[in-house]
Amino acid sequence: AEEVGGDDKEVVKDYFNNSGFQRWKKIYGDTDDVNRVQRDIRVGHAKTVENALKMLKDEGSLQGVTVCDAGCGTGSLSIPLAKEGAVVSASDISAAMVAEAEKQAKEQLVASGDGSAPVMPKFVVKDLESLDGKYDTVVCLDVLIHYPQSKADGMIAHLASLAKNRLILSFAPKTFYYDFLKRIGELFPGPSKATRAYLHSEADVERALRKVGWTIRKKGLITTQFYFANLIEAVPM
Ligand code: SAM
Repeated sequence: AEEVGGDDKEVVKDYFNNSGFQRWKKIYGDTDDVNRVQRDIRVGHAKTVENALKMLKDEGSLQGVTVCDAGCGTGSLSIPLAKEGAVVSASDISAAMVAEAEKQAKEQLVASGDGSAPVMPKFVVKDLESLDGKYDTVVCLDVLIHYPQSKADGMIAHLASLAKNRLILSFAPKTFYYDFLKRIGELFPGPSKATRAYLHSEADVERALRKVGWTIRKKGLITTQFYFANLIEAVPM
């Protein structure tokens, strides 16, 4: 009974417009009002962003490269990408997240001494299923956790259809330890655990990519005490 129709998405959207927005804005920010667990997740997530940027820059300059950041959150990746000269299309299902990302982009993407200003990302409120167009690269960090496996295949196929050259994805790996932590979380659901977390095995993600003609070229694992992510780069076969 994992499948709950379209309800999951509405719940996720509502969460990230309200309590989830407050919680994650804090975690993704740099203020001191975080607890030990939140601080640990902040560090883990920052590593994912850093490694994704490294993967993106490995192929050369990002100047003029079109990037779709699906589920952009507060802009943790979109903003540094714009600084690198990428032409970023940033979207999120949560209007609150998009507004925050836009606010931070305006603060952080300012003209440098020589007068050159980075191109602002284009921000839109949209669930990733409704995205269209073609981008050199599509990135989707820490969003798959909101998708049961039955929905993940379609989501991955859709993201791949938007990408010309590569797709960078991160997800919480289905390992025994993390599974265990998640179960503990479900046994004691606190007010901040309003949504379900879905873990994915690398084999399942790989299978979903292969079905649409894509293959994993690079992968990495990011872990801190409370944060776990597989980061993969996929390319057409
Ligand atoms: N990618 C960002 C990052 O790594 O900083 C944010 C990660 S946050 C854990 C997950 C984000 O995915 C939230 O901002 C949420 O609103 C968004 N999200 C969840 N489901 C989505 C969907 N179906 N379409 C678009 N965004 C979605």
